[in-house]
Amino acid sequence: MFDANVRCLVVVGSQWGDEGKGKLVDVISEGADFVVRYQGGANAGHTVVIGDSQFILRLIPSGILHPTTTCVLGNGVVLDPESFFSELDVLSERGIATEGRVVISDRAHLVLPYHKLLDLAEEKRQNIGTTKRGIGPAYEDKYGRRGIRVGAVRDLAALELLLVDRIRRANEQLALAGMTERASLDEHVALVRRVAPRLLALAADTSLALHRAIKAGKRILLEGAQGSLLDVDHGTYPFVTSSNTTAGGASVGAGIGPTMIDGVLGVVKAYTTRVGNGPLPTMADDVMEEELRRIGHEFGAVTGRPRRCGWFDAVVVRYAARVNGLTALAVTKLDVLDSFDRIPVGVSYLLDGERLDEMPADVTALDRVTPVYEMMEGWKTDTGGARTLAALPTAARVYLDRLQELAEVPIRYVSVGTRRDQIIG
Ligand code: GDP
Repeated sequence: MFDANVRCLVVVGSQWGDEGKGKLVDVISEGADFVVRYQGGANAGHTVVIGDSQFILRLIPSGILHPTTTCVLGNGVVLDPESFFSELDVLSERGIATEGRVVISDRAHLVLPYHKLLDLAEEKRQNIGTTKRGIGPAYEDKYGRRGIRVGAVRDLAALELLLVDRIRRANEQLALAGMTERASLDEHVALVRRVAPRLLALAADTSLALHRAIKAGKRILLEGAQGSLLDVDHGTYPFVTSSNTTAGGASVGAGIGPTMIDGVLGVVKAYTTRVGNGPLPTMADDVMEEELRRIGHEFGAVTGRPRRCGWFDAVVVRYAARVNGLTALAVTKLDVLDSFDRIPVGVSYLLDGERLDEMPADVTALDRVTPVYEMMEGWKTDTGGARTLAALPTAARVYLDRLQELAEVPIRYVSVGTRRDQIIG
């Protein structure tokens, strides 16, 4: 499914995450030699359905489900070793051969139990709606230059000294936050000793490995987690994740130069959802929201939290197209709209009576906007069986045409169901 002229493709969520990247990456990575995660941690939750089996992948790229693909966790990722190895073991138990197919950057940072405690303390202070998996505090440590990288387990004596300092510091912060829990040094020492041999067996200079692969003409897919509107720079700050989810993050987080990347595919739902806190301008009214959530099964893959649901927001997607340099769009979950009579599409916003076509930087402004909707005709036909654009009802084609016109990016794939084969492209 890789286009012939593309060797190195970034796939990014172009709304607030949960766009169905897992399925898209699974379909496209059939032609990829390497699938790379470049940011985030086990807070992502990709769902891939193969036959009757459903796989939920948190950290390991969905390329693992194709037997010849090598999966890379790049330097931009933060890795919780216990959750990572349990994910790997579950895959092995379910018959997926993982041996020799997963490589971890020795520059990636570790998420340790004290990060999760700090996450709880921070969430108590400031309700961002994080997954409480220690991702934010691990990135804070990285940028505060006190992080612990995968490669640090090569010298356990030195690492244990670092841990003395980190645990003391974390416990001071927990006390200040009024938390009763404390991080245990012994527990951390035992943990790093336990995971060190397995981590070392997989650790490598993944930037170099990818560089060599690119030179050898291999196909590389860089898989973004979360969505562009959750990017720490370009998202709806502060209701964002702690990393650069956008395509620029792929270059930094995988250790490959931007000139190596020759395509950026933006994944968008045919409508919009958001989990966690922060504004969602095109949120549907109660009845319609409930419908979208029910039909689209809009509950978090990792947290089970209900997602807020609304209509396609062209301001959001046009913005994502700009900050990512999207070269194509993949529209997912078109089938979820099959039963609606009429489908609103947000084309711009009104802010204090003024028309706004671009995303405001200030989240309080975004909170106050009213969307301007265009009303599209529904198609009232099951699209799950369509495998070509021509097989879609006319109203669905008109809808898709309008989305690509508003986004100013051509549509390359349309997904019409959870299964691998339910794809047009
Ligand atoms: P990701 O984090 O972007 O990979 O998104 P998730 O995997 O959390 O959420 C996507 C959900 O939508 C999963 O349950 C998928 O199985 C499902 N899904 C993906 N594409 C489609 C589609 O075209 N139609 C329907 N109905 N479900 C889809």
